Amino acid sequence: MQGANVTVLNGQDFIGDIQKQIDVPVAIANDADCLALSEYKDGAAKHAINSCVAVIIGTGCGAGVVINNGLVTGLNKLGGELGHNPLPNFNPDVDGKPHECYCGSMNCAESFVSGTGFARTFAEKYEPADSREIMALYHRGDARAVAHFDLYCDQLARTLGAVVNFVDPEVIVLGGGMSNVDEVYPLVQQKLSQYTFTKAVTTQVVKSVHGDSSGVRGAAFLHTL
Ligand SMILES: [Zn+2]
Repeated sequence: MQGANVTVLNGQDFIGDIQKQIDVPVAIANDADCLALSEYKDGAAKHAINSCVAVIIGTGCGAGVVINNGLVTGLNKLGGELGHNPLPNFNPDVDGKPHECYCGSMNCAESFVSGTGFARTFAEKYEPADSREIMALYHRGDARAVAHFDLYCDQLARTLGAVVNFVDPEVIVLGGGMSNVDEVYPLVQQKLSQYTFTKAVTTQVVKSVHGDSSGVRGAAFLHTL
């Protein structure tokens, strides 16, 4: 296993260790891969014929890619590691202080578009608050929260614009804590085409149907691949 943010697992034979204990075949995938599978099979992307990308914006940011009924895990098991690409068009005058990610890279998209990043960047600019508190301020019309949420949606649109340019999936499904903020969708949808190669994109960014259950549902689908 590698790339886990539970860093103690990196370099360990996690599947082998589990199989030794329970003596049955074991399949594992990360939460974003499971979200993508669950939503592709019978969720928000069930009408997609060939492709969907699911993106978790929660504690961290990860993505799962399904193409032709198969999960794209990749040669290095890095398929869908969207959150550890640099945030497109990072500009400290707009996005705030440069940030070093736990992975060792600077300005990973995860540092901005995860729920954790949303709160951290608000705290750096204004005052400590968690995502719920910032959104409560937003709903009261607090100018700082309104500006910060607009920036967040722009950062997310930049990140998803790179997804469209590279994979051009039929649908992008969002999961994780920030995906429950309904105001994300119209704003990101409106901004998305500013960051795509062709400006006439029709890609829909939608909320997951199965929510927090998508992880375990997707895991159950792993044996069907
Ligand atoms: Zn990173």
